[in-house]
Amino acid sequence: MRKKAMRVVICGGGVVGACTAYFLRRHGVDVIVVERTGVAAAASGKAGGFLARDWCAGTPLDALARHSFKLHAQLPRELPGHWDYRPMSAYSGRVVPEGDPRRNTRSTFDWLSKGIHIAQRIGTTETTAIVHPQKFTSAVMNAAIAQGAEFRHGLFTGILREAGCTTVKGIGVGDSIIEADAVVIAMGPWSLLATSWMSLPALYAQSSPSIVYDTGTHVSADALFLEMEIHGQVAPIEVFPRPDGTTYVTACPDTGAFFTDPAHVEPEPNRMHRLQQMSERLSPLFRPEKIIAKQACYRPVTADGSPLIGRVPQEEALYVATGHGVWGILNAPATGEALAELIVEGATRNVDLAPFDPARLPPLDLPRRRWP
Ligand SMILES: Cc1cc2nc3c(=O)[nH]c(=O)nc-3n(C[C@H](O)[C@H](O)[C@H](O)COP(=O)(O)OP(=O)(O)OC[C@H]3O[C@@H](n4cnc5c(N)ncnc54)[C@H](O)[C@@H]3O)c2cc1C
Repeated sequence: MRKKAMRVVICGGGVVGACTAYFLRRHGVDVIVVERTGVAAAASGKAGGFLARDWCAGTPLDALARHSFKLHAQLPRELPGHWDYRPMSAYSGRVVPEGDPRRNTRSTFDWLSKGIHIAQRIGTTETTAIVHPQKFTSAVMNAAIAQGAEFRHGLFTGILREAGCTTVKGIGVGDSIIEADAVVIAMGPWSLLATSWMSLPALYAQSSPSIVYDTGTHVSADALFLEMEIHGQVAPIEVFPRPDGTTYVTACPDTGAFFTDPAHVEPEPNRMHRLQQMSERLSPLFRPEKIIAKQACYRPVTADGSPLIGRVPQEEALYVATGHGVWGILNAPATGEALAELIVEGATRNVDLAPFDPARLPPLDLPRRRWP
């Protein structure tokens, strides 16, 4: 008799959930993705999509990032669809302050305003690249679905366990139940809402506004990491031109209000105003009538800056993959691949997940809920 395939439910249809679904399907696992809003509805659709091979060198993220950068380069050859993957250079620099005589100097890139000093190249087409994060996440989810994964709109509402033990049996979705052999929590910063059901460390949400401009073909394929003085403070601003003729600009991070419904995340008006002022200082191409989107999203962040990837402490068959901070688009493919190996084979092949073990950080001390 044929053995019944393992069934895994993934909560969250962001880039981490999509990549985990895709790699689990490659192992022949039955996969159901439960998402309350839409695929890539949160940060995975509103991020910059910038990728760097070795910018995590010297940190616990190094091996994960290097392997994931490699997977990003391979995936366009393996999956149908286009998500604007493009190797690109990256430069650092600064906006010369008012009153400085160099303010009138032409910039290295002719599409930038005068007085923007490019200091050095910090990435080459070998070491840095970009994807359109919304198109990437959707393409990976579509590939998982084409290979048999199921996508369900629904709200994760709790964990179902075997009576009197720690083995997880499924999840609550609204008032109903989906039974499963294993569960993955990949709800970005909203994974925090699952901490009343399991022992997880604290998770924070850092938001940033971003603006997408229609810049056509005028902007060169170089990511810019600039500093600019605004209201007496030096602030970083990031500029990512995309192959589809748009340019993404972000700055002004904040850990203020947290919207509990991902569909309601909005930019904080003062920060958005400041970002627009900063962008207009950078280039005459960043005009109000060229704005395609004004948006905001959250980076899921942990206390030590490394993601939580692995089995949830004191649980059987319950896994978590979140807390990827500023590098979630970069690190999602290697996260999905490693987590799929851990769930199916009990060990990983390419990346050691030990630095990301959720048990390394103290858990939040909350009363535990039990279904129903
Ligand atoms: C402004 C900005 C720029 C960024 N730029 C980059 C970049 O250039 N490069 C890079 O590598 N990373 C970047 N990041 C980081 C990256 O976007 C995130 O780390 C990554 O998208 C997190 O993905 P995720 O799948 O963990 O979470 P999310 O994308 O937040 O997805 C979580 C999903 O879970 C769903 N969900 C929530 N609650 C429930 C529930 N109860 N039931 C069911 N579903 C639920 C949500 O609707 C959402 O779709 C950026 C982030 C920000 C904010």
